[in-house]
Amino acid sequence: MEISSGNIENISRAARVINGGGIVAFPTETVYGLGADALNPLAVSRIFEAKGRPYFDPLIVHIADISWLERLSFEVPPQAMVLARRFWPGPLTLVLKKTGMVPDIVTAGLDTVGIRMPSHPVALDLIRECGTPVAAPSANPFGYISPTSARHVLAQMGDRVDMILDGGECSVGVESTIIRIDGSGVPVLLRPGGTEPERIAEIAGPLATRTGSGTAPESPGQLPYHYSPVTPVRVVDDFSGLDISDKRAGYVYFMRKGDDTGTGRIAFLSRQGDMREAAANLFSVLHRLDALGLSVIYAEKVPLQGLGVAIMDRLARASKRGRESVEGAGHEG
Ligand code: AMP
Ligand code: MG
Repeated sequence: MEISSGNIENISRAARVINGGGIVAFPTETVYGLGADALNPLAVSRIFEAKGRPYFDPLIVHIADISWLERLSFEVPPQAMVLARRFWPGPLTLVLKKTGMVPDIVTAGLDTVGIRMPSHPVALDLIRECGTPVAAPSANPFGYISPTSARHVLAQMGDRVDMILDGGECSVGVESTIIRIDGSGVPVLLRPGGTEPERIAEIAGPLATRTGSGTAPESPGQLPYHYSPVTPVRVVDDFSGLDISDKRAGYVYFMRKGDDTGTGRIAFLSRQGDMREAAANLFSVLHRLDALGLSVIYAEKVPLQGLGVAIMDRLARASKRGRESVEGAGHEG
């Protein structure tokens, strides 16, 4: 497998692959996705196979034109329209009642579908060129850290995909925020992500949360064990008392508080404490430290504001690996 640059010719080629029932890794502003024709159940099943993703974990359907919203969902509450108009294209997924057009394999049998319009120009061009909605989870093996560069996809998925389109580093770097909108008027936050909850609440009113570990999670992204490097992750309040001389440990600082004196084991999510920069760096930092074969990665807590909510969500789930029984429990890939 090689990486194909995201130019017009390759986007057209990728669209032909998708229209022919194939699966293509492509850049979005959140993370790299693995896309198939959302209306072709056989093609969608290839995504689950390639990722080793359990079939109870529904996929997000990506669109490039808001008119698809009404073809995929027969009940689009005004509140959903307002959010779509405000935040699309961008890292917000709306979960709405689905129409019969959406195959059950996409939604894992749920009567709702997650829909998003990504803002990355390569993603938008690809979906437009396909002329069909594109179902896409992150382009990584189930449960591992999400890819934020084409290189990550190549390393993790290699020949399991038909094509890899390159669109550079993901600018947002964490997955979309998922909101369920039903008739109740109260939007439900199913997963924190790349759109700050405060900004959504400004427009849609206070959000109800439904995160945590129910036995039958409505959104597998809610399961506790997730987004995990192979190396154990430990989240700590702050690094002031920590002995960073341990050569078998990696350290993820929120802000820069000193220099990595050439160890390669110390990473800063943001030099200035900028939350957007921190989110954009999170997965690539974890990828880099995970490749060092350390015995533990310590990560410093970030403030629970704006994108900090999504960062802490990912870190908390990453730190659950090996700590909880995951028998029978899935986690979104
Ligand atoms: P990703 O792997 O980042 O594409 O995320 C997919 C996430 O969206 C998973 O956590 C899914 O469970 C969630 N999701 C997709 N469709 C639905 C739906 N209809 N209801 C609830 N969550 C959904
Ligand atoms: Mg994923």
